[in-house]
Amino acid sequence: MPNEGYTMVTHEKPFRYLSGDLKVTRGASWSGPGCHDGCGVLLYTNAEDKLVRVEGDPENPYNQGRLCVRCLALTEAVNHPDRLRYPMKRDPKKRGTEAFERITWSEAYDFIEEKLRYYKDNFGAESVVFWRGTGRDIATYISRFAWSYGSPNLTSGINGIACYAPRVFGCASTSGSFWVGDYSQQFADRYENPQWKPPGTIAIWGNNPLISNSDGLYGHWIIDCMKRGSHLLVVDPKCTWLAAKSALWLQIRPGTDAALAMGLANYMIQEEIYDKEFVDLWCYGFDEFSERVSPYTLEKTSEITWIPPEKIVQAARMIAASDGFALQWGVAVDQTTEALPACQALSALIMITGNLDNPGGMIKPPELLNYLGGWGQEFLPQEQEEKRLGIDKYSFYRTGVVSAAALTVLEAIEKGEPYPMKAAWIQTTDIITGTGPDPQRAKEAFEKLEFIVGVDLFMTATMMALADVLLPAATYPERNGIRVGDGCQRGETINQAADPGECKADMEILLEMGRRFNPEAWPWETVEDMYSYILTDSGLSFAEMQEAAPVFLPYEYHKYKTGKLRRDGQVGFNTLTGRVELYSTMYSRLGLDPLPEFYEPTPSPYSTPELYEEYPLIIITGARDWMYFHSENRRQEHLRALRPEPVVEMHPDTAKKYGLTEGEWVWLEGHRGRAKRIVSLNLGLDPRVVSTSHGWSHPEAGPERLYDTRELNINSLIAWEDMSKIGVGANYKVMLCKIYKVTA
Ligand code: SF4
Repeated sequence: MPNEGYTMVTHEKPFRYLSGDLKVTRGASWSGPGCHDGCGVLLYTNAEDKLVRVEGDPENPYNQGRLCVRCLALTEAVNHPDRLRYPMKRDPKKRGTEAFERITWSEAYDFIEEKLRYYKDNFGAESVVFWRGTGRDIATYISRFAWSYGSPNLTSGINGIACYAPRVFGCASTSGSFWVGDYSQQFADRYENPQWKPPGTIAIWGNNPLISNSDGLYGHWIIDCMKRGSHLLVVDPKCTWLAAKSALWLQIRPGTDAALAMGLANYMIQEEIYDKEFVDLWCYGFDEFSERVSPYTLEKTSEITWIPPEKIVQAARMIAASDGFALQWGVAVDQTTEALPACQALSALIMITGNLDNPGGMIKPPELLNYLGGWGQEFLPQEQEEKRLGIDKYSFYRTGVVSAAALTVLEAIEKGEPYPMKAAWIQTTDIITGTGPDPQRAKEAFEKLEFIVGVDLFMTATMMALADVLLPAATYPERNGIRVGDGCQRGETINQAADPGECKADMEILLEMGRRFNPEAWPWETVEDMYSYILTDSGLSFAEMQEAAPVFLPYEYHKYKTGKLRRDGQVGFNTLTGRVELYSTMYSRLGLDPLPEFYEPTPSPYSTPELYEEYPLIIITGARDWMYFHSENRRQEHLRALRPEPVVEMHPDTAKKYGLTEGEWVWLEGHRGRAKRIVSLNLGLDPRVVSTSHGWSHPEAGPERLYDTRELNINSLIAWEDMSKIGVGANYKVMLCKIYKVTA
């Protein structure tokens, strides 16, 4: 039986049942391929256990039967002829060629074990870097493997950990928790729950939730809330679909989010329209904060952000008057140079308006699997932890950030300092095509390593260029798993439906390798035993959770008033002062600025005017397309048909100025590099700003051309060094470029 207070959804059928000739398996989705939202799916398989259809599960309160195109086209990925189907090995001298030889799993495991033991014994476990991608539910297990092997060098390969982490740290280090908008996701009965009410205002800030469906939010919830009375305030340089439906759209200059947040706060304070009672009782450092934001007058804020002063007034009044204010912020805030103070500035808006732990405001999702932050870290000896690359340079990395700094790892590979790097374990990440900057530099650095293991679904550019042993991973319909991450507001299982052939679950690979190096850390016979162990606190085994899921945890609002939020049972928040900290005592102790601040991005029209003269457009990268998740999905025929080639969106006046027309190929060139795109006109952009998506390759171009990543990867315009001085935040939204036609 599950723990007291848990709510289960009533299902008419077991999680596996027959429907005519087909078997139906109910469960949650999880990348790869797809994303890490975890929507409820019904997977249809035939007599040969082949996946033939995917539907949204109408009984699952999360997505209520809806799916986006990526899961609807899932069969095309799972059954694709290009899938990696068996383990392979290649002579490191032949990297970049198709000279792979098929081997068995036991040969692969033995060979990898022998090599990793050799590097550990001769150069120390720190000489092996573990490089993982986003999305898969493997993050926890790969960390445990790295630590139990003995290496502190684990990274997700994006400089400045500029995806989600700055928002989490910016929030947690000032208020003791990460907070998400309250869309009733914590309740099994969703919008019918009597405790819940829709947010009066939802600020969609640097986020396009309908397309990205990111971080535990199914984008359609925004529309569900609008139907129930919520108004939208959209902060975005581009007029998105939601911006067009909003009560107010602030067309912000990229990279100036902190200035806008500080200008809004200053106006609310000057006009005394903030929540005085909440500030008096629960906020620490209000006077210092007021002083810090005071220079951000309407005029100054407008000058920095390009937003007219009257719209800033309108926005401030809208937030302050709102009965429930939810901040739906996105990766755009993380992907600016000084992301941490920016996230601090944005979180201050929810603090001074008292929108924490309240219905229709910001909530702390309950956590079913309370093991994410460092599960297995105890197996890493302290002397090894001290060797973690980046902690000497970035003091913030000592505060619970478990990653090594990707740039420092890269430099260590390049220079052999502070110690030699010898090998890499690359799992589910396409370094050359994906989210990291300067892919050519990353490729050249990795080429120096003596031994590289790769785990993936397809032959990616990274695997083709670098892997010496390549292990085929199962897709999510081909393996079991449990939902982790993004605020585990419910218990879900990923349930195997289709035959994986020789492919194996990422976790199964890690369990096998982990057991070989540190059996004490990996005492389980099967991955299902491991999941049951992780689920212990729920009172359910993995098999029971498969039947019962989704399982919802008890939830109540205003826990800070009753002592149910703090670990010590005292009233207040999980900070040193017990209050939410507008002045961060943690940053102060670390020698960082304790207050939020705006820093002019570099480069920019103002900080580097000479560069701006040569590269006169601001380019935003990293925007998502409906049909793709980072570098995935380009092989799926129906998804590719929706967007066959990468586009750069620009205002028609911009196109006219540079003599360009819709549909023609152009180069986007910055001072670091260039990438090709097709012109797409968009009236919803400022003529000084252009926008493009990332993760592009042409799988059909073949290995000789490395799938065209050299000319399509937009991150060629970004250097690894284009990041924050404190190691949190990077420049993906604030580069400069020029545009010209591609000629023969
Ligand atoms: S958001 Fe889309 S890709 Fe992600 S799990 Fe849901 S349906 Fe699948």
